[in-house]
Amino acid sequence: MKYALLLPFLLLSACKPSAPESPAAAPAKSGKPQVYVANYPLFYFASRIGGEAVEVHFPAPADEDPAFWQPDDATIARYQAADLILMNGASYSKWVENTTLPDAKVVNTSSAYSKQFIEIQDASTHSHGPGGEHSHSGTAFTTWLDLQQAILQAQEVSNSLQALGVPGSAEAMKKNFESLKTDLEALDKRLLIVGQRIGKTPLVASHPVYHYWARRYALDLQSVLWEPETVPDDKALEELKSLLAKHPAPWMIWEGEPAQESVAKLAALGLKSLVFDPCGNRPEAGDFLSVMKTNVDALEKAFP
Ligand SMILES: [Zn+2]
Repeated sequence: MKYALLLPFLLLSACKPSAPESPAAAPAKSGKPQVYVANYPLFYFASRIGGEAVEVHFPAPADEDPAFWQPDDATIARYQAADLILMNGASYSKWVENTTLPDAKVVNTSSAYSKQFIEIQDASTHSHGPGGEHSHSGTAFTTWLDLQQAILQAQEVSNSLQALGVPGSAEAMKKNFESLKTDLEALDKRLLIVGQRIGKTPLVASHPVYHYWARRYALDLQSVLWEPETVPDDKALEELKSLLAKHPAPWMIWEGEPAQESVAKLAALGLKSLVFDPCGNRPEAGDFLSVMKTNVDALEKAFP
């Protein structure tokens, strides 16, 4: 009697497909293609282009720099199980150096202009956020602040989303890309114009993330290694003073709103403060486009 009950159960379980490695790797209930991205700009591009046809995921925590973030094993498994993995390239996402992702699913969105990457020499080590020490030596990765490069990345996003083959979605995706491109072109034009007004005026950046921005908009920019939330100590101020001696900048460009005390210390050196948020992670308010508009507005106001 017992055997008779047990046997069908055993047969049945032997025929079942093997369970997924983790619950997170199970297919989405929506049935839509699952797209995993490396940073917030790609999240914005993929969401705007893909619309309702796909589900876009950007699992990095809001308080970490996605470039240096280390996802845990369960999160890596979710990337590995995705239908499409959109990477920034240019040595972004340091975590992929020690991880295997399925090649056929990975799209490197900056590959179209990899010959134009900027190499940073001998940048010193420092830390920001919970990610530990790092250096910006190697390939500069804040690629999208050159808005023409951002458009090329959005084009890759559009192509790879269309290649997922969601029935009836291609036309909408093409239209969505064109509308995004129009918005990015408008910002690019404004930046070229304000860049001309800035001309040869030297600028200082609080962190070395503006290489492509400075190149595209012809800005004479040098960087220190400061954080918006950290007030510079005497040593940091001395280093800045020696930089200003040969690079007399009237403005410091910050990644985020600086502490009032930092602004006051800079003002004492004759330096004004301006935020140009690279927006690599989710903004507290608005979206990628509104943050970039605010950035450009601030720059235009500073250089009327
Ligand atoms: Zn850094």
